[in-house]
Amino acid sequence: MKVLQDRSLAPFHTFGLDVKAKQIVMVETDAELVSVWLDDSYRDWPKLIIGQGSNLLFCEDFDGLVIVNRIRGISITETDEAYCLHVGAGEDWHGLVEMTVHADMPGLENMALIPGCVGSSPIQNIGAYGVELKDRCQYVDTVVLATGEHRRLMADECQFGYRDSVFKHALQQTHAITAVGLRLAKEWHPNISYGPLAQFDADSVTAAEIMATVCAVRMEKLPDPKRWGNAGSFFKNPVVPAALAEELAGQFPSMPAYPAGSGCSKLAAGWLIDQCGLKGHQIGGARVHDNQALVLVNYQGASSADLLALAKYVVESVERRFGVTLEHEVRFMGRQAETSLAEVYNERS
Ligand SMILES: Cc1cc2nc3c(=O)[nH]c(=O)nc-3n(C[C@H](O)[C@H](O)[C@H](O)COP(=O)(O)OP(=O)(O)OC[C@H]3O[C@@H](n4cnc5c(N)ncnc54)[C@H](O)[C@@H]3O)c2cc1C
Repeated sequence: MKVLQDRSLAPFHTFGLDVKAKQIVMVETDAELVSVWLDDSYRDWPKLIIGQGSNLLFCEDFDGLVIVNRIRGISITETDEAYCLHVGAGEDWHGLVEMTVHADMPGLENMALIPGCVGSSPIQNIGAYGVELKDRCQYVDTVVLATGEHRRLMADECQFGYRDSVFKHALQQTHAITAVGLRLAKEWHPNISYGPLAQFDADSVTAAEIMATVCAVRMEKLPDPKRWGNAGSFFKNPVVPAALAEELAGQFPSMPAYPAGSGCSKLAAGWLIDQCGLKGHQIGGARVHDNQALVLVNYQGASSADLLALAKYVVESVERRFGVTLEHEVRFMGRQAETSLAEVYNERS
């Protein structure tokens, strides 16, 4: 178990902001994770478990203990119908996708190159190019932090939704994810419904070809966090009443909108931001990415305050033009606990 005192969190999250934590501990087993969490010397400290910090914005220094999950290990069993993978929460997600595709166990290829750890993947039910974690997840193993007791949640208990799950709500801060069970069916059906994948023939395409295309498109479209710190899509695609979507479509005929069930439509947050002319808009060192309006980047030594001010400006601009309020997909961490853009500005005004 590695312990780092009063260190910058810059290497531990993909925005690369120079914020500090009182202490950072890296854990490699379930037992280490629980013993650190229950350690008396940290009893009253705020605590945060992270993977690769690719969905986090630290709004200021974190006045507590950051536990970096590095629980590794992959075991594979098989039935006549499927490969069943039990994967340690600290394994790298993209590494897992590559390994499975190369080992001829297709099913994860559409989700290639999503940064982060396997253990974080159920939390916001990661997804890309028409496939979500929930489509492959069999179970999520957790430890109950107060007692150290192990608890397995089957996929139907995880309340998976669009970038959502029970781990963002009832089980947040009470359960840590230690492993994820995935089921990859041997009878593989490629999902080529989205954008650049539609060029393929479903009868002849391979998972390796899909993975290569997804990687190429992502590398072209999304800024590499190693070059410009970012956390991917900063905002969720807003789900609005279908009547509002229709009214907006009347005013903005080229606006993309997709049915989202129960009388609602999903709009494209990137399109809304782009229509406000915000690509390349910069506040301090934070900038709306020049090609991908949905991504805010640490362009030139941004501070947390720069990113917060930019996020606020984007939300207000979209609200003014379209009457739609964007919600951030990125998780905001305050000095002691999770927070939100609205909370940060109510507190500060
Ligand atoms: C360039 C880029 C592209 C991206 N593209 C996509 C995409 O296409 N689709 C998509 O869905 N996401 C995307 N993301 C977002 C991100 O990759 C995912 O949310 C990912 O699952 C986060 O993993 P992480 O390990 O970095 O989590 P972290 O950012 O470290 O943590 C995220 C949250 O989970 C909690 N957490 C982490 N580990 C545990 C644990 N073991 N137990 C309990 N709680 C825990 C943390 O406290 C935090 O609240 C992208 C991000 C980037 C930077």
